[in-house]
Amino acid sequence: MTPTSVSTAPASIDILDLAREQVLERGEGLSESQVLDVLRLGDERLEDLLALAHDVRMKWCGPEVEVEGIISLKTGGCPEDCHFCSQSGLFQSPVRAAWLDIPSLVEAAKQTAKSGATEFCIVAAVRGPDAKLLAQVAAGIEAIRNEVDIQIACSLGMLTQEQVDQLAAMGVHRYNHNLETSKSHFPNVVTTHTWDERWNTLRMVREAGMEVCCGGILGMGETLEQRAEFAANLAELEPDEVPLNFLNPRPGTPFGDLEVLPASEALKSVAAFRLALPRTILRFAGGREITLGDLGAKQGILGGINAVIVGNYLTTLGRPAESDLDLLIDLQMPIKALNDTL
Ligand code: SF4
Repeated sequence: MTPTSVSTAPASIDILDLAREQVLERGEGLSESQVLDVLRLGDERLEDLLALAHDVRMKWCGPEVEVEGIISLKTGGCPEDCHFCSQSGLFQSPVRAAWLDIPSLVEAAKQTAKSGATEFCIVAAVRGPDAKLLAQVAAGIEAIRNEVDIQIACSLGMLTQEQVDQLAAMGVHRYNHNLETSKSHFPNVVTTHTWDERWNTLRMVREAGMEVCCGGILGMGETLEQRAEFAANLAELEPDEVPLNFLNPRPGTPFGDLEVLPASEALKSVAAFRLALPRTILRFAGGREITLGDLGAKQGILGGINAVIVGNYLTTLGRPAESDLDLLIDLQMPIKALNDTL
């Protein structure tokens, strides 16, 4: 599934000059080996790289920033062993299994819509949904539809064809399922299911007409080559949205002792993914506060990002929604379909 790509850059051509011509002018994403050249750039080129990624995003996506809210319908107790995840029931992590009731779900959707968000994502920590969870989701979607004007996304793990069809019939607009990392690194991250099982879910979701949201986590011990491979995997998938997370090592998980990615490496990666995926919604997701610090949001948005998640993430506290929204106003970046309650 991974495209084998050969760099078209002669040694004498600077990768950023090449990217300016190929990605900015023609809208063609960088290949795997070209992304690797970008990831290998020295820190002295970081500013030029971020500026180029920002220009690419402005030219091919426009100035709007998409805002999404996210709510956990079922938290913790997952049977899978994703080594970064504090919601796995297999590790000594502090997240307990819990369910959210429908009135709380509707209230969260209302608050999300008030913040100007256009998308509300219902998430459950499961391998895949069972009949009880799908019934809860169906009831939740109907209750939200009756009271709130917002598009609904779901993230419920791996799906069968029948479940894909059920979600499409419920009117789910977008489905999130992350590949998490490159195909070659995946067995070091998850052992209870395969990368191909995840890929199959994504293929069925696309074929059913739902938008595909698929990203992953950087800083899970992958090499730069594997990070470039992951960008190429995503380019092959052509998702509508890519949420990029940085590992926030959670105590009690197998990755609890990994080092946080240095800020310059994280920013370089964001920009490299933008150059590989010029037209995709690239969303800042979890883990960015600890990796990038306070300035991270600003540099990331100027470096190719065009979507944010507001408020709390699933298991850790994110920045307050207001500070993200104030930042967008400071940067004069309009929120897509800005809700008039803001
Ligand atoms: S990432 Fe998802 S599938 Fe993996 S352990 Fe966490 S909740 Fe379960």
